[in-house]
Amino acid sequence: MAVKNGKSGPRAAGQDELVFVALGGLGEIGMNVYLYGFGPEDARQWLMVDLGITFPGESEPGVDVVLPDLRFIEENPKSLIGIVLTHAHEDHIGAVVDLWPKLKAPLYATPFTAGMVHSKSSEFGGKLKLPIKTVPMGGRVQIGPFDVEFVTMSHSVPEPSALMIRTPLGNVLHTGDWKLDRAPLVGDPANETRLQELGAEGVLAMVCDSTNAFREGRSPSETEVATSIAELIKAQPRRVAVTTFSSNVARVKAVADAAEATGRELVVAGRSLHRVINVAIDTGYLPKNFRYLDQDQAQYLNARDTCLLCTGSQGEARAAIARISANEHPAIQLNKGDTVIFSSRTIPGNERAVGRIQNNLARLGIEVITDNEALVHVTGHPRRDELRQMYTWIKPKVAIPMHGEARHLKEQGRLAKAAGVPTIVEPLNGDVVLIAPGAARIIDEVPTGRFFRDGSLIVPDDDGPVRERRKLAQVGMVMVAITLTPRGEVLGYPQVALDGVPQEGGRGEAMYDLALDAVEGTLKSIPQARRKDPEMVREAVRKAVRGAVADAWGKKPIAKVLITMVDGK
Ligand SMILES: [Zn+2]
Ligand SMILES: [Zn+2]
Repeated sequence: MAVKNGKSGPRAAGQDELVFVALGGLGEIGMNVYLYGFGPEDARQWLMVDLGITFPGESEPGVDVVLPDLRFIEENPKSLIGIVLTHAHEDHIGAVVDLWPKLKAPLYATPFTAGMVHSKSSEFGGKLKLPIKTVPMGGRVQIGPFDVEFVTMSHSVPEPSALMIRTPLGNVLHTGDWKLDRAPLVGDPANETRLQELGAEGVLAMVCDSTNAFREGRSPSETEVATSIAELIKAQPRRVAVTTFSSNVARVKAVADAAEATGRELVVAGRSLHRVINVAIDTGYLPKNFRYLDQDQAQYLNARDTCLLCTGSQGEARAAIARISANEHPAIQLNKGDTVIFSSRTIPGNERAVGRIQNNLARLGIEVITDNEALVHVTGHPRRDELRQMYTWIKPKVAIPMHGEARHLKEQGRLAKAAGVPTIVEPLNGDVVLIAPGAARIIDEVPTGRFFRDGSLIVPDDDGPVRERRKLAQVGMVMVAITLTPRGEVLGYPQVALDGVPQEGGRGEAMYDLALDAVEGTLKSIPQARRKDPEMVREAVRKAVRGAVADAWGKKPIAKVLITMVDGK
């Protein structure tokens, strides 16, 4: 039998292997896409777990969302036998509507998650019909060689599931996002009994959430937050607004309960909240008679009689709280003496946008309460005591940290080792991990990357338009238009336009004149015979105009020269 030597031990060609690879989610918090492969190296069947997005930063101007590069699986779409979704957060399901048409594999999800994907697909997916097979909480499905059991966890959205993936070569527990909350307010607590039974059955590898690997202790419960929010709302003399992650149905319920207890009408502003509330009512996480007013009805109520629930806790510019803070909301106005509660944590990268909103509110005389001042938010991810508890229950032979930046993954690796796990493998996106047979280790690498959704198009990240846009944002642009004849004569007058360039240089000289002088001077300096070559003229003018503006500004703009060839006779 042919033998290939990996880093620690031989691999027999043609023999079945169980492998794991991430196309997103390792080395970043967001864009989770994990693959489990079973079979010989050249004929594997793949199971995808989650298909998420991440949100762009300030250095990605104009980008709506960041999507994973699925080239590795797209090259052989038939090898993908199923896509399992663990829960309804955007970093786990956000790419389904955009990317499923390239994959076309059956989808599996519990009812709330399926409802959220269908709801998004009917809003943004046109005629897209997604073949989602709904699996009950705690249900089990056979997908090719993978026997997949959904294990109920707790998190910050209804129906988070870990996956017990049984294969002929061993079992993997893929935790998804989780915490151990015994009073999650909405839905069931994590099924601790089942987790202990799975540990007793035997788990070869655990692939586990690393988000809070640095945070000591245990995370507080959603019910504790609900109590704290209710007390705060009760204490407010005037109108109260609460902004939170719209997918957090427990938080929606907490605010609705507090409103009811204090005799306030609940007013909901923001489309994504309406969507989540509708799916939560359909799937039984909010009561059928859940009552709230639309934003348009809010203006007829007394300040003391309303509790507003709105989108935009991460500083999203078009969301309700951003528009309210700028006094630009069509239906809702907050005034001096009102209170806004940010029932959320600011995701790194969003600090400036959130700060801008909070400053606007402060200027209007509105009190702002965040998780610095009161217990108005808890994490949905396991802190160190919860991670230790999980390792005690599951006792995996191999730990593979996921859902974290590189430092979070490393830290969970250390924790797992201290918890007695014999083998820690720490892959990043694209690393292929051999789980079985033999010693677990990284054996290969596959291509990964990112795409941007830009308007209605999906564009590459590195060589795409966003790179140019970033540059334009820094230095502006000078455009020049020239008309030449085939004999090298200049027809009419060159045109110059400046965009994002200062109007005057340091000595008060008009930038427009400087640029035009540079164009005309350069054209004159080139003998007519040589002006027959438009490429040469373009490059000479571009350099001259860029140099002239740079001398006066201290920065080099982007310069574009358009040449029209016209037969003057
Ligand atoms: Zn999540
Ligand atoms: Zn997540």
